[in-house]
Amino acid sequence: MSEEEIKDHQEELLCKQLKYVYRNSQLYRKKFEESGAFPEDIQTIENFQKLPIFMDKAIERTSQQESTDRFGHPFGMHLCSSPDEIVFTGTTSGTSGVPTFTYTFTRADIEFLNRYIRHMLNYGGIHAGERLLFSHALGIYATSSILFGVRSQGVLPIDVDVRAGSKSILQYAKMAGPTAAMMTPSLAEHLIHKAAELGTDVRNLGLQAIFTVGEIGVGVPKIKKRIEESYGCRIYDYLGELGFSCDSDEYHGIHCVAPDLNLFPLDLIDPETKTPLAIYNGVIGERVTTELNLKGLPRIRYATGDVIQVFTDECSGCGFSGKRVKFVGRSDDMLIVKGANVYPSAIKKVVSNFIPDVTGELRIVLNNPPPRVVPPLQIKLEYGSHYDKSRLCVLEEKIKNALHTEARLTPDIIWCEPGTLEKSLTKTPLFEKNY
Ligand SMILES: [Zn+2]
Repeated sequence: MSEEEIKDHQEELLCKQLKYVYRNSQLYRKKFEESGAFPEDIQTIENFQKLPIFMDKAIERTSQQESTDRFGHPFGMHLCSSPDEIVFTGTTSGTSGVPTFTYTFTRADIEFLNRYIRHMLNYGGIHAGERLLFSHALGIYATSSILFGVRSQGVLPIDVDVRAGSKSILQYAKMAGPTAAMMTPSLAEHLIHKAAELGTDVRNLGLQAIFTVGEIGVGVPKIKKRIEESYGCRIYDYLGELGFSCDSDEYHGIHCVAPDLNLFPLDLIDPETKTPLAIYNGVIGERVTTELNLKGLPRIRYATGDVIQVFTDECSGCGFSGKRVKFVGRSDDMLIVKGANVYPSAIKKVVSNFIPDVTGELRIVLNNPPPRVVPPLQIKLEYGSHYDKSRLCVLEEKIKNALHTEARLTPDIIWCEPGTLEKSLTKTPLFEKNY
């Protein structure tokens, strides 16, 4: 389909979905009523964007509390199916506050989503009969839904909970002989060191593809290169079922292969004012999610807090002509330093280019509640274990220059010994909060 045909198709699905959620969910009906519009009034994406934001994490929590109190189920007043039709529910890990059952699916939803996981595995050359090491936090977490897609491809997951520890993960991997792995980039990096400590090499695992989710790691050229060289295979970055990065040495972002699943990434808002942004090559904004086909607990005009950059030009790596996105940061992690928006992920990216002179671990020290920071911003960095400590001022100058050019920052750097900043295998905390 051409871009125009895809948009027409999305608008057709959008009209249907809006009528469906209006009929079946008290929350969405109320949101429409408050806006003064009816689903029949919405024919285009541009029209749809004139509606206020329907949901965010806070509204979702209130909605869950209400459905628990009134109907005895935790999914929220935006549930569109009967609670007994739900076959999977997953929350996000690593976030603060009350968990939300955001990833709640009916059987039909799961089967619809499975197609995308199969597509990604196929693209990575992983087929029926093979085995895949699956090392995330298992159980109630959203990532567990990916297992349905893996199994539907005929691929056997070797699912070792990340909390079992890296030694167990390596042991199971060695025994089961998987051809692919799914984990966070942090864990992929950690296993390189752990394997070396145990006198072996991750290359001996014989993996053909690694699929990672949940962090910016693969978007950092040095990290991508190091993981690919250590394991001797390609690493793909994916964002749920929405898309994945391509088979190129250079990282070209998530390729959006699921326009019939979600309006992503067409509905973009300004992270501060929450007003719609026009889509053009390179635009940065907060992504608003609207699920076009899910029937259980679809999110409609849901402000995710994820700040992304959208690319509309053809991928120079693989020729993909659809939209691509790169993750920029979280709108709630955004700092404002001297009037400029600064994302911790941008700082991490700059710092990672100095590996191995630094370890790559860092903390941004906050002495007052964000987003406003009284300059200079303080950053704790670990120097690399082989780095000559007496030459730290030279390195500091280089890093400061890079942060100034690439992130418009003039921070104070506080040096820490290697290994003193705690490393997390799920989502690394980037802030040290002293308030
Ligand atoms: Zn590409």
